[in-house]
Amino acid sequence: MAKFRGPLAFQAPSAEWQLLPFRFERINGKVLVTNLVGEHLFLSAEDFDQLARNELPTDSPLVRRLRAKHVIREGADELPVELLAIKSRTRYRRLAEFTSLHIFVASLRCEHSCPYCQVSRQSSDKGAFDMTWETAALGLESAFRSPSQNIKIEFQGGEPLLNFELIEEVVAAAEVRNASEGKNLGFVIATNLALLDDRVIDFCRAHDVYISTSLDGPADLHNKNRPRPGKNSWELATAGIQRVREELGVDRVSALMTTTRSSLGRVREIIDTYVELGLTSMFLRTLSPYGFAIKTKSFDAYDVDHWLPFYEEGLDYIIELNARGVPMVEQYAALILKKMLTNDDPGYVDLTSPSGIGIGAIVYNYDGDVYASDEGRMLAEMGDKKFRLGNLHQDSYEEIMLSDALLAPLEESFAPSAPMCQDCAFETYCGSDPTYHYATTGDFVGRKPTSGFCRRNMAIFKLLLDRYEGDAGTRALFQTWAGH
Ligand code: SF4
Repeated sequence: MAKFRGPLAFQAPSAEWQLLPFRFERINGKVLVTNLVGEHLFLSAEDFDQLARNELPTDSPLVRRLRAKHVIREGADELPVELLAIKSRTRYRRLAEFTSLHIFVASLRCEHSCPYCQVSRQSSDKGAFDMTWETAALGLESAFRSPSQNIKIEFQGGEPLLNFELIEEVVAAAEVRNASEGKNLGFVIATNLALLDDRVIDFCRAHDVYISTSLDGPADLHNKNRPRPGKNSWELATAGIQRVREELGVDRVSALMTTTRSSLGRVREIIDTYVELGLTSMFLRTLSPYGFAIKTKSFDAYDVDHWLPFYEEGLDYIIELNARGVPMVEQYAALILKKMLTNDDPGYVDLTSPSGIGIGAIVYNYDGDVYASDEGRMLAEMGDKKFRLGNLHQDSYEEIMLSDALLAPLEESFAPSAPMCQDCAFETYCGSDPTYHYATTGDFVGRKPTSGFCRRNMAIFKLLLDRYEGDAGTRALFQTWAGH
């Protein structure tokens, strides 16, 4: 006896309409249906059963909705297939654009000693942990080899302002080089702002440099998370944010937060701190399972089940603030909504498949080692160099970009062919994150039923769809976040 029924058994009984590829998920008594490019609609269980059994009457209004969402097509109509192909190409167009974010680790030194930090070093020995100009020049050469028309150079640390001379040199050299290259060139300094002074402000003004900083919430929480001599990290960070906003422009600085165990239960206070500073965007982030976060057991301090109520309360509070006329965007939601509600892919490394490691963002460490992602560098600081692609001093651009260390995780983790992801209704909204799965399970794919990455994302996808479908005001807000 045949194990599987033949293809004819799956064909529509009439030529009036045919199924196109789709995936589904049962949520709260309804069925979410997503097409090949992530356009979605909810069906009742009865309607879905009729669809699955090919029993929907041709004159049903639902047939029109399903055709509009490219879940079915009429007869042998080729147009829906062509439209799906165009939309798929649009979603994947970043692959041709290739690496746009180039992270230069200017120095590993830092005057903070945050317990969950993955990479910083307390050291007065400049030579040991600062990037040299020779290394930076090779990094610049690599950045300009990228075919991407958009090149963003981001300086990270440690605290990159401890090696500010190098930042000045790299920016000047990149601008000279770009006079003939003609790329869209941008610069970001990721700094705790403790060392912000007139020289840095003047430089950022002259060269259009953006500032990215850290702000964990109210003073007591931030200072507990980020100890430094003087115990005044929050005071310096908030004064720095205000100064940049006043002297360079309100859009010249953004802040990121890290959620520690102490943050749980305080999400409203955290958001209020951002609002009081006049910031209109924040990123409710979870702690990453890398580096000292694991070493100091900070990562074990809470799991995704503790973090999700924190996120849900925060998202609802942000929705409420917007309804009261206080503008605030939750960036993780905005990234997902862009994927959910448009055919664009913002290219956020954790939410892309193929993963964005190496091909969306790449890291040049202070010593010339090249990593596929910042998380890969953090893992290396723990002694595991799985994501080290080579060294700027020893390997060519081709050897780095075609290394097995990059190609293997990209290929193996590709979500449309990964167990569970390939059938998941949320696959087009999600990512593959080989670094996370390698760090937690030892392989690039991981086991999705027990993956914290999967659990967190799936819960957020459902949460966003619930709020989007449930209220017209939230729907309009989410469409704005998605860039409609
Ligand atoms: S990781 Fe989980 S949520 Fe994401 S596509 Fe895979 S199965 Fe779906």
